[in-house]
Amino acid sequence: MVIPTVYIYLQLTFLIIINIYYMFNFIIFGPPGSGKGTQSAKIAEKYNLAHISTGDIFRKNIKEKTELGLKVKSIIDSGELVPDELLIDILKDAINSYSGVRGFIFDGFPRTIRQADEFEELLKSKNQKVSLVLSLKVDDEEIITRLMKRAEEQGRLDDTREVIENRLKVYHRQTEPLIEYYKKKGKFESIYGIGTIDEIFSNICKVIDRYI
Ligand code: AMP
Repeated sequence: MVIPTVYIYLQLTFLIIINIYYMFNFIIFGPPGSGKGTQSAKIAEKYNLAHISTGDIFRKNIKEKTELGLKVKSIIDSGELVPDELLIDILKDAINSYSGVRGFIFDGFPRTIRQADEFEELLKSKNQKVSLVLSLKVDDEEIITRLMKRAEEQGRLDDTREVIENRLKVYHRQTEPLIEYYKKKGKFESIYGIGTIDEIFSNICKVIDRYI
């Protein structure tokens, strides 16, 4: 009787270890307009990861005029952050909507220390952890130029000059502290986010290949 119990225990431990080491939880990090969305789509395809963009989730809800969409519209239009308490449940639902994936790219999440702490707890409860945080470094002037251009092309309401400047301020104040947070955990890498899409993608892949 003892042998089968030990055997089952060892098998479970093995499965948990496999789970910890094989779910690749990748955070793509950077200011608004640094290219996170564009690069995430390419990374998701190459590495077979599920792409979770909290900004896309909010935009979809706003478009469909859901309760969540109506609640967050004015916040997003002003360039502020949606309250932390709404984020973790949205993220849980997004993660749970996928099964059998090799891992995730989190794009636009976490954006505050509180979100990062809650995220860590959530992953821990699933025997997982953040695998890598990769930051795309782009200076403010370039961001403003890019986002003004995107405003013309896509007509996003949060891409007016005033809102762009506010989004950058919010990024520096509330999101940038996460760099130190993840550096302390030894999971932080950064690359220069200016160049062609393919050049930046190739540099991102070089970093991912060291971790995946
Ligand atoms: P993004 O497309 O990632 O730039 O997100 C667009 C907007 O959605 C942001 O300016 C925020 O208002 C909101 N948002 C997206 N992700 C988050 C998040 N993790 N925490 C708070 N607000 C968010």
